[in-house]
Amino acid sequence: MNRKQFIESLGATCRNWTWSWSFVNEKKKVVIFGAWDRNTDGNTSLILSEDWEVGRKGRKQPAYEQAREHIRLVEEEGYKLMTFPMKYSDANKGEDGTGPAKIEGFEPKLTEKSLKKVAGKWYASDGLLGSLLPEEVESPEQFIEGASKVIAVNTYERNAEARAKCIKHHGYECAVCKFDFAAFYGSIGEKYIHVHHVVPLSEIGREYILNPIKDLVPICPNCHAIIHRTRPAIDVEQLRRHLEERNGKDT
Ligand SMILES: [Zn+2]
Ligand SMILES: [Zn+2]
Repeated sequence: MNRKQFIESLGATCRNWTWSWSFVNEKKKVVIFGAWDRNTDGNTSLILSEDWEVGRKGRKQPAYEQAREHIRLVEEEGYKLMTFPMKYSDANKGEDGTGPAKIEGFEPKLTEKSLKKVAGKWYASDGLLGSLLPEEVESPEQFIEGASKVIAVNTYERNAEARAKCIKHHGYECAVCKFDFAAFYGSIGEKYIHVHHVVPLSEIGREYILNPIKDLVPICPNCHAIIHRTRPAIDVEQLRRHLEERNGKDT
């Protein structure tokens, strides 16, 4: 069974069978999203992001507009949200890393999800978002580097040398909310901050070498906990803008 046959067997359709990753069954009021493996972590998948509207070459992505409409049906018209797993391949990408995503495969397995919007990104999740402390949340997550090595995610955030280099460059102020422990608590708060690893695990290749200045950012534990409430984690810059907009509204 191919993807089209699978979707049609569910009574759903789309505008174009080549580029669509979201589908709708108007009669049953169900919206179906394919969830890329690279955007799925645990029970949560990133299914749409505002920064997917325009492709790398500046062209509007036709699938974005359709997906945005499908999201609206869930948000405003009470449509149910379901997802099925899709396997990503970058076989269509050129040397420079651009080009369309290729669907390597999919699993004809539907799961009902709830929709969460966080800082310009929509996530399909099973029930509640996590509420663990960042220190806890990352330890069980692991990924395979190359064929053999298994590395815990927080290795990067806990590496003392990398942490020191990051802080030496960026300082101890939170990159999202500007919280400064020493300024707020006095000397007991001096030199306290978390460090967050910003490179999505899906983008870490076999040859990954950590750049402590670009790949790590100082983040206060509150912001850090919020960033890791979704999987994949929320983008630091987007959370910063989200706070800016909220603060702007309040005054
Ligand atoms: Zn903060
Ligand atoms: Zn983190």
